[in-house]
Amino acid sequence: MNEYFKSLNKYVISEEMNLLEQYAKINGIPIINKESLSFLLLLIETNNITKILEIGTAIGYSAINMALLNPNIYIDTIEKKEEMCNLAYKNICLFELNERINLICDDALNLDINVLKEEYDLIFIDAAKAQNINFFNKYEMKLSKKGIIVTDNLFFHGILFKKDLSKNLRGLSKKIKLYNEFLSNNNNFKTYFIPVGDGMSVSIRRYND
Ligand code: SAH
Ligand code: MG
Repeated sequence: MNEYFKSLNKYVISEEMNLLEQYAKINGIPIINKESLSFLLLLIETNNITKILEIGTAIGYSAINMALLNPNIYIDTIEKKEEMCNLAYKNICLFELNERINLICDDALNLDINVLKEEYDLIFIDAAKAQNINFFNKYEMKLSKKGIIVTDNLFFHGILFKKDLSKNLRGLSKKIKLYNEFLSNNNNFKTYFIPVGDGMSVSIRRYND
């Protein structure tokens, strides 16, 4: 984020949070960037969101920031890597949020959805980018009537616009594009594509009446 705005945006500034950001940077963990975080927190506040499902916890940075917004927020967050789960658990405890952030250490594609809540006001998709369509299709039934699905990294860390990619990255890029088109052409959801941060989408249900 622009340094000037960064200094003006005063939500959550603490030594612990700075340490999480530094840890992510040093270890190449792709936590949400500040621009996208501002946008996400704004969506949560303006929509009075209290029940959140996050797919992709990493070290818990986005979940912790969302939970700190207000004491009514409850988050179920899914992470498949054991190492990340351990770090996230430690961080969630550090912020004393274990009562409101429920960490589920499992592959979101295998998880039995019956262990989850009946419905969520926000589903935040931020895990393996090539699986976005599968995450969306599996979890959209858990979205409340007026709920929103937010997906991060639709520019795939900017790689989507690069030329001369390796075969591997080309394949991944193609999958991200397919997801973006899947959202754009979806008859059941209307999606806003917001060029904030690394590209985010906000999908809401379409109603005919
Ligand atoms: N939301 C975090 C960043 C998540 S990074 C933040 O902004 O702070 C993406 C994470 O998704 C990685 O830790 C990766 O291990 C996890 N992941 C990838 N595929 C997954 C899957 N199928 N189920 C659960 N987690 C997954
Ligand atoms: Mg992300």
